[in-house]
Amino acid sequence: MTLKDITESDIANNIPLASKKNSDHRSQVKVGDAVFGGEKFVVIAGPCAVENREQVLDIAQAVKKGGATVMRGGAFKPMTFPYRNEKTFQLEEEGLRYLEEVRQTSGLPVVTEVLDPRDVEMVAKYADMFQIGARNMQNFPLLAEVGQASKPVLLKRHFGCSLRDWLGAAEYILHHGNPNVVLCERGVTAPHTHEPTSRFIVDIQVVLAVREYSHLPIIVDPSHSTFKRTYVPGIAKAAMAVGADGIIMDVHPVPEQAAIDPLQALSYPTFENLMGELRSIGQAIGRPI
Ligand code: PEP
Ligand code: MN
Repeated sequence: MTLKDITESDIANNIPLASKKNSDHRSQVKVGDAVFGGEKFVVIAGPCAVENREQVLDIAQAVKKGGATVMRGGAFKPMTFPYRNEKTFQLEEEGLRYLEEVRQTSGLPVVTEVLDPRDVEMVAKYADMFQIGARNMQNFPLLAEVGQASKPVLLKRHFGCSLRDWLGAAEYILHHGNPNVVLCERGVTAPHTHEPTSRFIVDIQVVLAVREYSHLPIIVDPSHSTFKRTYVPGIAKAAMAVGADGIIMDVHPVPEQAAIDPLQALSYPTFENLMGELRSIGQAIGRPI
């Protein structure tokens, strides 16, 4: 048995659309003024969950001031357990309306998760980009549905899937007619992630592997992978250094009080400080923000 993951036959038959045609083949995906796969490093920032109107409007101003060009925020939240409380609610369409207001007041385009194929049409009315969460990476009916929609898709990698599986999922979206797919590495499981100091291991190397096999832009999520605020800046800088096209990060005015994922969100000052560091690295390696 060979351990080689992606074969010539895969490239010809299974991922003809997701694989690159030649060494210079690189796609660009435009979301508002942000271009994934272009010269600039794209920073997506915002809360894990849309908590209320004031919260998202405030965060939008803060992340825009810091240099983010896309806002994130979930109005639909996947949960490990089925019991929701007053902290783990999801605002659904009401939250999408607040995100629309974010775009109108800040000018930032918004990316938000869609969990259910039946919601794709509704989410498309408000959002600039769909997010497919890690757990739904191989939800084929959902991939087919966003493949038929007219908005770009941020496709997160499942924490247990190979690059071959991930490009196969991207192929579904491309095959259904949507050419605007951005890949997002958000950590994979490894045995020692059972320790409380780490949740997932960021597969930094996969950024290079995506570049080798695919023309699709690739970004990194240092928040949902590390699950730990103090690790986020380091992984964000590593993502830029390795050649990712951008990052997506949780930012919250009072991180400890974030409704969901309070351990990983960055405060406004930490976010601003990190953006300064990213600008310096970007200057050194020719990757402006
Ligand atoms: C998120 O970004 O809000 C999220 C739930 O991420 P993931 O699907 O990577 O866990
Ligand atoms: Mn989250």
